[in-house]
Amino acid sequence: MLKTILSQTNILSKVAANQGSKLLRPTFSLATTIQQRGNASTSDANVFRATELEKIPNSKQKDLVPNQDLIFGHTFTDNMLMVEWEADKGWGKPVIKPYGKISIEPSSVVLHYSFECFEGMKAYKHMQGSTLLFRPDLNMLRLNRSSERLTLPNFDGKELTECIKELLRTDDRWIPSDRGYSLYIRPTMIGTSEFIGVGPSERAMLFVICCPVGPYYKTGFKAVSLQATVDKVRAWPGGTGDSKIGGNYAPGILPQINAMKQGFQQNLWLFGEDHEITEVGTMNCFIFLKNEKGEKELVTPPLNGMILPGVTRDSILSLAREWNEFKVSERKITMSEIIKAEEDGNLLEMFGTGTACVVSPIKMIGYQGREIQVPLNPKDPNTQAGPLTQRFNDTLLGIQYGEIEHPWSVVV
Ligand SMILES: *Cc1c(COP(=O)(O)O)cnc(C)c1O
Repeated sequence: MLKTILSQTNILSKVAANQGSKLLRPTFSLATTIQQRGNASTSDANVFRATELEKIPNSKQKDLVPNQDLIFGHTFTDNMLMVEWEADKGWGKPVIKPYGKISIEPSSVVLHYSFECFEGMKAYKHMQGSTLLFRPDLNMLRLNRSSERLTLPNFDGKELTECIKELLRTDDRWIPSDRGYSLYIRPTMIGTSEFIGVGPSERAMLFVICCPVGPYYKTGFKAVSLQATVDKVRAWPGGTGDSKIGGNYAPGILPQINAMKQGFQQNLWLFGEDHEITEVGTMNCFIFLKNEKGEKELVTPPLNGMILPGVTRDSILSLAREWNEFKVSERKITMSEIIKAEEDGNLLEMFGTGTACVVSPIKMIGYQGREIQVPLNPKDPNTQAGPLTQRFNDTLLGIQYGEIEHPWSVVV
């Protein structure tokens, strides 16, 4: 079984190699694409503007859910943002309207061929009452990249950010103010052509919904154990693993359930014959180790087409490079290097990163019948996060809540 899979992944790497580095290079420049589309139309049909935003907010206000009862992704605010697009007319006017059901026909292409992409970002309440977004420009860029991959329309990210800000002002009472709590924002684009043919969608809907969420770790960190998954592959060269598109996620659930049945919390996604590390669950993966030269090095896999370009990933790399205290590398890292580091006592810390959790410390990897132990905090056995993991977490939370002044914070 394993052999077949390995030979399959081997075929994939050969395909990638045959196509040369083309697959590994970004195949388009987002900025150029938007510009070209913008220039091609003399009207402004290809953009919508925040100045046209129509507001028909909910007249009813739902009861707020007490902070301690919040479950991630279950509670939605009173309103949502909606903009519709048609190939011949371009974007319509953005509207803020009551959160509620949307109506699409059963023939809509989203329901058949997964014309869907999304974002995950958060709004944070500053101590003084203002609301902050964290690097929203990167979420806008990534949503445009994902929609481009699915031949869904592009939009002007600055305009969508302004519309989202207005939605946040409208639903302000839903933004929890306690430390660790925030409002999770889910921009989503779907293809709604009513046509069961495999082709580009001629209609699209862009909507933004929000839910108040609690801290990922309510009672301090809880480090996770991972199953190094060798029988299923999340992403491959030339695939879509680097886009936040719905089609990537449903196939990851079965392997996750299988990992959980065996006592692990998440999958460590590997690729290729040499089992290179790609991601952890739906997070980017960081490894802190002492390398062969005896230097401390923070390693994360490079953006080679198999890795989702996380905003948290990018922020951690920037902070680490700014601190300049250890080597920082975006490079390929395989399971054998991890095993070697563990055996030599050189594996220092490992963690996953994403908007939902910021950092998620890793304590163990199950791999081919063995358990690789990852150190947490050697100085404090009660702490479930290594010192570097903790420091990234504290610094990022400080910036997100406006306690540390930083250009990444955007006031709503
Ligand atoms: C969203 C996501 C991440 C994390 O991205 P952030 O921008 O840091 O939230 C990592 N991996 C996958 C597969 C994701 O979908």
